[in-house]
Amino acid sequence: MPVPSFITTCKKNERIANDIYEIVFEKPEGFTFKAGQYILFDVPLMENANDIQTRAFSIASSPKEDDLLFAMKLKPGGRASRWIVEQLKPGMSARMQGPFGRFVLDPASDKELLMIGTSTGVAPYRSQLPMILPTIKQRIDLIFGARSEDDLFWKEPLENLAKQSENFFLHIALSKPSGTWKGHTGRVQTLVPLIVKDFSNKSVYICGSPDMTTELKKTALEQWGVEKQNLHVEGYI
Ligand SMILES: Cc1cc2nc3c(=O)[nH]c(=O)nc-3n(C[C@H](O)[C@H](O)[C@H](O)COP(=O)(O)OP(=O)(O)OC[C@H]3O[C@@H](n4cnc5c(N)ncnc54)[C@H](O)[C@@H]3O)c2cc1C
Repeated sequence: MPVPSFITTCKKNERIANDIYEIVFEKPEGFTFKAGQYILFDVPLMENANDIQTRAFSIASSPKEDDLLFAMKLKPGGRASRWIVEQLKPGMSARMQGPFGRFVLDPASDKELLMIGTSTGVAPYRSQLPMILPTIKQRIDLIFGARSEDDLFWKEPLENLAKQSENFFLHIALSKPSGTWKGHTGRVQTLVPLIVKDFSNKSVYICGSPDMTTELKKTALEQWGVEKQNLHVEGYI
């Protein structure tokens, strides 16, 4: 079955951290998705608007919200990165296809959730948490890694979710913090075993750069003893 495509309008494009932009698009009429899925945007080459390629971005707003929220990280010289900085403005339209992806939660599972995300890899969790927190009772840990305070974003909305729910715990880890940082220091890899001692009742989700997801997938299977069916990985290749 062909994947539907939609025309949407940009509502917001704002730099929220070092090289990260918060982008909001209108949710097109008839577009539905599951929390954790992604869409493909048509991205033109700056020098030639007819030269189009697609780029994937995880939807960070929950399905119950009116708009589509994204966190987009720049890669120097990258096609989408140039589009975000040089062209994409509120009021501009764009073509999107989707939704795609299986990085979704299993509503029938009663396992505890361990969500691990680095940088924009936190996006699917920002979509999923508001959907599950009102109903599920099991423990949820989100380990969110960033380089420094300047690379950190969405701290407040995530902290607010944690304040509102007794079973949701947010752990932010900075790998290169400033001298004044009082939270966890180090890579997410090193933080996980300090927070989780027993993985037998955990569903583990890992999202972010392919280097991190590949490394953690191996660690989860070989060292933490996570079973394959309880491990879900989204690498931002
Ligand atoms: C399922 C999925 C979900 C994703 N979700 C998100 C998300 O929510 N947020 C997010 O920020 N990203 C996400 N990504 C990553 C995103 O799709 C892009 O890969 C990322 O934004 C970089 O795209 P770009 O077009 O800017 O860079 P690209 O044009 O793809 O280039 C990447 C890098 O390679 C270099 N490069 C390109 N061509 C060449 C060449 N010929 N020779 C040498 N170097 C070259 C560029 O300079 C750049 O540094 C996701 C990826 C996947 C697969």
